[in-house]
Amino acid sequence: MARTIDLPRAVLHFCRRSGIAVAAAVLLAALAQAAAAAPAKAERQMVAAANPLAAEAGRDILRAGGSAIDAAIATSLVLNLVEPQSSGIGGGAFLLHYDGKSGDVTAYDGRETAPAAVGPDLFLRPDGEPMGFWEAVVGGRSVGVPGLVRMFERAHKAHGRLPWATLFEPAIRLAEEGFAVSPRLNALIAADTYLKSDPAAAAYFYEPGGAPLAVGTRLRNPAFAETLRRIARDGADAFYSGPVAEAIVAAVQGAANPGSLGLADLAGYEAKQRDPVCAPYRAWRVCGMPPPTSGGVAVLQILGILQGFDLPALTPESAAAWHLIAEASRLAFADRNRFLADADFVPVPVGDLLDPAYLARRGALISPNASLGEAEPGLPAQNGAMPVQHDPPSTTHLAVVDADGNGVSMTASIENAFGARLMAAGFMLNNELTDFSFRPEVDGRPVANRVQAGKRPRSSMSPTLVLDGNGKLALAVGSPGGSRIIGYVVKSVVAVLDWGLDIQAAINLPNVVNRNGATDVEDGASSDALAAGLAALGHEVKRRPLNSGLHGIAVTENGLAGGADPRREGVALGD
Ligand code: GLU
Repeated sequence: MARTIDLPRAVLHFCRRSGIAVAAAVLLAALAQAAAAAPAKAERQMVAAANPLAAEAGRDILRAGGSAIDAAIATSLVLNLVEPQSSGIGGGAFLLHYDGKSGDVTAYDGRETAPAAVGPDLFLRPDGEPMGFWEAVVGGRSVGVPGLVRMFERAHKAHGRLPWATLFEPAIRLAEEGFAVSPRLNALIAADTYLKSDPAAAAYFYEPGGAPLAVGTRLRNPAFAETLRRIARDGADAFYSGPVAEAIVAAVQGAANPGSLGLADLAGYEAKQRDPVCAPYRAWRVCGMPPPTSGGVAVLQILGILQGFDLPALTPESAAAWHLIAEASRLAFADRNRFLADADFVPVPVGDLLDPAYLARRGALISPNASLGEAEPGLPAQNGAMPVQHDPPSTTHLAVVDADGNGVSMTASIENAFGARLMAAGFMLNNELTDFSFRPEVDGRPVANRVQAGKRPRSSMSPTLVLDGNGKLALAVGSPGGSRIIGYVVKSVVAVLDWGLDIQAAINLPNVVNRNGATDVEDGASSDALAAGLAALGHEVKRRPLNSGLHGIAVTENGLAGGADPRREGVALGD
C-alpha cells in the first residue's frame, strides 16, 4: 500500500482549533505538496481519486475481485458523500473504459440534458439580456437531468463483475456511520454565499447556530444512505422514478428560482455509449471523450499541433516549451469556442478539426520567437462565437486500473461547487445547464452551444487514456478545473510522454494555461523564471492559483504508478 499524502495529526488539530478554515486548507495543501514527491506504487491494481476514503472504497472493491468499472462506481459514490461540492448522483460524468483483453476503448456519456420545456431564452432576462451568472446558477433553473446513475448502470452491464448492490455498500456504510469533514469541504462551506439558502443544505452543512461544520466533524447522511439503498436494490430506475425522482422534481420546481425539470425528463434520460476520439501522438495513441465535451477534441488538437515540434528536446523548466504549448492551446481554443457543442444537435466538424494536415497548417502559424496573440478559428465559420467559461472549484477526476489490465478514466461533476445549491434526497443537484451559452445568438447567428430541449451542455471535461505502440494502456489521467482542464491534462500527458516524468512529478509541475487570451502561470517561486521567459516572448502573463485536481495512473515497466494532485486532497492507493 502506498499513500501520497499523510496529513500530520498536529496540523489537523491546529486546523480544528484555529477555525481559520481557508488558511488551514492552504497550509495543508502546502504540506501535501511537499509530501507528494514520489508516485504511489502498486503491482497489480490501483485507484487514484480526490479523497482518501473514496480511494479506499475503490481499492476494497478491487480486493474483493471487482473490475475497474466496479471500483470506479464505488469510489464515485463515496466521493458524492465526502466531496459533495464536486460530483455525485445529482450530476453527470464522462467515462472512458479500456478493455485489458481486447484493447478496446469505450466512451460513456452521462452528461446532464436540458429538460423538454426549456429553450434558447432560458438564461435571458425579460429584456433579452443575459442573466448574471449567480442569478442563473442558484435555484432550479440551472438543473439538468442527472446522468451519473444511468451511465453507471450502462457501464456496469458491459464491464462490471461484482453485483451492482455490492458497489453501494461502502458509501451506504459511511453515510450511516459518518465521516470526518475534510479541510477542503469545511473551507468551501465557509466560503459559500448561497448554500444556506436551501433549507436541506443549511441543515446538513451548518451547525444549528449557522457556523459551517468544522474540520473533523463527524457528518452522517441517512437520507443519502436511504437513496443509495433504493438504487442498490432496484437499480437505476429507482433514481429516475419513484420517491428519489419526486424529491428532485420537488426541489427544482419548488425553488425560489424554479426550473422546469419534471418526472418525464428523468424517466426519459438516456446515457450514451460513444466512440472515443483517438489520435496518434508520437509513439502513442491518445484517446479522449467526444462531444458534447470539448475536452477530447481540444486536447487532441493541441497534441496534434505539438507533434510538429521537438518538445522532447526541451525541458519542463523551459519557457520555449511552454510557449509552444500555450500557442498550440490558443489555436485549439479558437476552434473550440467556435465549433464545439453537443454533436447530436448541431454539426461539429470533429474529423476536420483533427485532420493531421489541418493541424500541421495550424502549427505553421506558431513562431518560436513571439506569441501570435489572439488566434482566429481555422475552419469556415458556421456558428456564432461563444462566451468563455468560468472556473469553478468543483468537479472530480478518478482513475482505476484493475488486476486484468482494464482501466477507467472518469471526470464527474455537478458543475459549480455545491451545484445549484439545492439538496434533494441527501445529495446536491447540479447547475450544469449554465455550461450552455447564455446568449443564443451572436451577430445574428445561432451559437452552437445555445440551450435546446434535450441537449447536453458543452463541457471541458477531458478524461484521457494513452495507449502504447502495442495498444496497451500506458496512462489514465484527467482533472477538474472548468475550461482550464484542457491545459492541465495536456501538461500531464506531455510531461509523462515527452519529458519522461513520473505521473506524480508531472502532476506537480506548475500549471501553465492559455485559453486564447492571457497565459496563466501558476503562482509560486518555482515558476517565476518561466513567467518572465513567457513575457519576453510576448505573452500577457497572469500569475494566479491554478487549482487543478489531476489524478492519474501510469502503467510502467515496474508496475503501476499513481499520482494525486497536491492542490487537493486526493491519494493513489493500490496493491
Ligand atoms: N462544468 C464544467 C464542465 O463540464 C466542469 C467544471 C469544473 O471542472 O469545475 O466542463
